[in-house]
Amino acid sequence: NGYCRDKELQLESAMDARYEQLLNGLLDPRLDEQLELRFQPVVGCRALCGVGVEALLRWCHPQLGWVSPEEFIAIAEQHALMRRLTLWVIKTSFNYLQRWLRQGMCVELSMNVSMLDLESNYLLAALRAAAEHSGVPPAQVIIELTETAGVQNPVFALRQVKRIQRQGFHVALDDFGSGHAGLLQLAALPVNRVKIDRCIVKACEGSWQHQRVLIGLIEIAHQLGVDVVAEGVENAQVQALLNANGCDYVQGYFIASPLTVEEFKPWYQQQIKTHPKVRCAYKGKG
Ligand code: C2E
Ligand code: MG
Ligand code: MG
Ligand code: MG
Repeated sequence: NGYCRDKELQLESAMDARYEQLLNGLLDPRLDEQLELRFQPVVGCRALCGVGVEALLRWCHPQLGWVSPEEFIAIAEQHALMRRLTLWVIKTSFNYLQRWLRQGMCVELSMNVSMLDLESNYLLAALRAAAEHSGVPPAQVIIELTETAGVQNPVFALRQVKRIQRQGFHVALDDFGSGHAGLLQLAALPVNRVKIDRCIVKACEGSWQHQRVLIGLIEIAHQLGVDVVAEGVENAQVQALLNANGCDYVQGYFIASPLTVEEFKPWYQQQIKTHPKVRCAYKGKG
């Protein structure tokens, strides 16, 4: 009826207005000042050895407040605006990682890139420049790839992944088992790690069928010689299930939420105090 149609139109135009506002914000020269990173710990399953962090992008829009990366990354991808965000994430992540390594903290850092970032040369160039400039060994850095629709030139993208790896960076396939990131991608992409999507991990609670799927995915990854990270671990039961089935790393609210840079250092120090076995994968200088 007319009333519902009015409401529908109102909602539609409110959504259009928000989209427009976000798009303008992404084009704003002051965007960099509104960006921040959060760092979510990734820990080894057995004896909680090895500490990594995933850098997660946050945007505080001047009028709209905090906007989820799920929302603004999609808009950036649609308008070929990823480059600026990705370059900011690389620059900022390497700064923090360099500082942590100099302070004697053994951390690996994962950063997310869009598949669309692989369609030109800037990603590899920026990674090389950042590693050289900061002195951070590339092996301390993991590039997380999320499959997205709209990749124009998959052959070129695949070549970029190989070149990134040849430079010594590690590569992970993100959101494995969801949407686009399936078995074909895992078999075709040269990755060091696979991150099992949090939806599958979540579905394991109270479903033995999903538990079997999860266990099977861990096994497939290991067959391919790839390390497995489970995302979205929210409780001790899931952690125990993963542990019992040979998962290599876990990440999720049960271990820690995404932390501010100020929160991360005390978390790390607490972690090595309570788990003296925390081993460092980092065997570089210092
Ligand atoms: P992702 O790479 O799969 O990151 C994991 C997401 O799961 C994060 O959401 C994190 O906050 C959330 N998470 C962590 N532990 C739990 C848990 O136990 N339960 C639940 N329900 N969720 C958990 P966030 O930070 O909102 O990021 C969403 C997505 O946005 C990321 O998914 C990633 O695809 C994308 N993203 C984030 N930062 C960047 C970036 O710098 N560049 C690019 N290209 N994409 C980014
Ligand atoms: Mg990720
Ligand atoms: Mg992702
Ligand atoms: Mg994911």
